[in-house]
Amino acid sequence: MKKVLLYSGGLDSTTLLHHLTKKGDEVVAVWCNYGQKSKDKELISAKFFTKKLNCKLIEINIEEVYKYSNNCLLVKGGEVTQIVKTDNHTKYKNADTELIFRNAMLASVVITVATSLFPKENIEVDLGLIKTPYKDCSSEFVTALNNLTKLCTAGKVKVKAPFVEKGKDWVYKQAKRLNVEIDKAWSCYLGGEIPCGVCPACIDRKIIEGYYANNKRTF
Ligand SMILES: [Zn+2]
Repeated sequence: MKKVLLYSGGLDSTTLLHHLTKKGDEVVAVWCNYGQKSKDKELISAKFFTKKLNCKLIEINIEEVYKYSNNCLLVKGGEVTQIVKTDNHTKYKNADTELIFRNAMLASVVITVATSLFPKENIEVDLGLIKTPYKDCSSEFVTALNNLTKLCTAGKVKVKAPFVEKGKDWVYKQAKRLNVEIDKAWSCYLGGEIPCGVCPACIDRKIIEGYYANNKRTF
């Protein structure tokens, strides 16, 4: 069974890459450029971890797919986080970061690439999805995608998302257990020199990292 991972270089898919390779599986990682603000930083992370784990990394450019979108996650979109000043307080307000159909689209790209790479073999396509309110990060999504994939590949390709019922805190603990260099996984929605610290992805990480640092947990 060949394994192909949709890989962003972020903490969730990086943890899944470590999880799969630890089991001794050979994994091909596919990274997509869809015009996201964080693409350069994501790619640095993706290159670092695939080199470390001796995995092949394939880069796919699908930038034009969001030609008509101005979503703030995209280079051409507006700001992800705005500073709002009220009296003596400074607050941060985040714009809508949902890119409709993104995970279905990215998964389709990976399935397409995987079947081109291994036309005669059975393939497992892995997605580093975790539980969030978004429908395309749910078990229902994975089941529906699997049904479609089975139909279109005559059962040769299976989609798996082993973390889909897990939260960010679980992934963080798993990353520690697997000796993932967490600081090298790029989660920030922006592409600055260092993570911005105020976008939703940075805030998630700060909460979890702060919680475990303060509670001095061992993993
Ligand atoms: Zn950020």
